[in-house]
Amino acid sequence: MEYRCARCHEKFAVADGEEAHACPRCKAEAGLEPVKKVPKPMMLFGVFLGCALVATVVGGVLSVVRGG
Ligand SMILES: [Zn+2]
Repeated sequence: MEYRCARCHEKFAVADGEEAHACPRCKAEAGLEPVKKVPKPMMLFGVFLGCALVATVVGGVLSVVRGG
């Protein structure tokens, strides 16, 4: 599990199942936030969105080429 210190923005890892107690850099005990990783469905959605965008652009160019 990764945490990020809200005070110095230091990122550090903590063993799974354990909680962060203090920032290894500035020793802050408060403001340690778990770093949320991008959920896989969201990543897939992003890839899908990118493909859809490319398909739209390519389709538009092709229709212009054929129509012209
Ligand atoms: Zn810190």
